[in-house]
Amino acid sequence: MPTGVRSSVAERYSYKVDVLGSNPSGRTYMKGKTVLAVGAHPDDMDFGASGTIARWVSEGATCYYLICTDGSRGSSDPQMTHKRLAEIRNEEQKKAAKVLGVKKVFFLNHTDTQLVADLVLKEEIVRVIRKLRPNTVITMDPTFYYTTEMIGFDSGFVNHTDHRAAALATMDSCFPLARDRLTFPEHEKEGLKPHRVEELFFVGFEKKDFIVDITKTFEKKIKALSLHKSQFDNFKEVEKRVTLRAKFWGKLKGYKFGENYTRIKLP
Ligand SMILES: [Zn+2]
Repeated sequence: MPTGVRSSVAERYSYKVDVLGSNPSGRTYMKGKTVLAVGAHPDDMDFGASGTIARWVSEGATCYYLICTDGSRGSSDPQMTHKRLAEIRNEEQKKAAKVLGVKKVFFLNHTDTQLVADLVLKEEIVRVIRKLRPNTVITMDPTFYYTTEMIGFDSGFVNHTDHRAAALATMDSCFPLARDRLTFPEHEKEGLKPHRVEELFFVGFEKKDFIVDITKTFEKKIKALSLHKSQFDNFKEVEKRVTLRAKFWGKLKGYKFGENYTRIKLP
């Protein structure tokens, strides 16, 4: 077998091994891959996926963020305005992304709490997918509405309406919308070709499907989260909860820290 062929087979195989959560040789498998993480608010992807993002960047992937809303409702400060908060949160997200090595953050600037998974949003997401051409897309879980028990909380949890909308619109954008030439045909006239996303990762709250070892990048995750200063009165409490959850997921696979996903390999 010619060397080139052998190495490409090995690379494909290794990538699968790595993605399944085991990396015994320490080789880098995400080299050359493009990853797009789509969140509803600034901080969503830092909570859900920043350990994975930082790890994949360190392995040679190029990662981007797409944030659907302006985050302009997330404050109880009586002096705060929507406009000012949107500016602050935009800056916080850019700084956090920099810590992780994210190449660029795109903002759609929909009004916080008003996100709807309609064709307007889907067209915007498809446009970004066709432009960046990611192999892997990460978003939240569109099927997660609520839970009566939440790891790290003494309560249940209702998933934010924007999280559900962003997740659903992203899933639909990956399959089938970005793939089909006749969907949003105006894109083709702008030079944006159809694109097939290879795999989708949904940040997992409850389902335990696919755990990524983030032991080496956990510190970066905490650092990135800490930069969303407008969102925390007491970051120590947040850090405690995030640590507890990362340990919980990690332990299921024998890692110190993990992030949990549902992974779908797309046809
Ligand atoms: Zn959020």
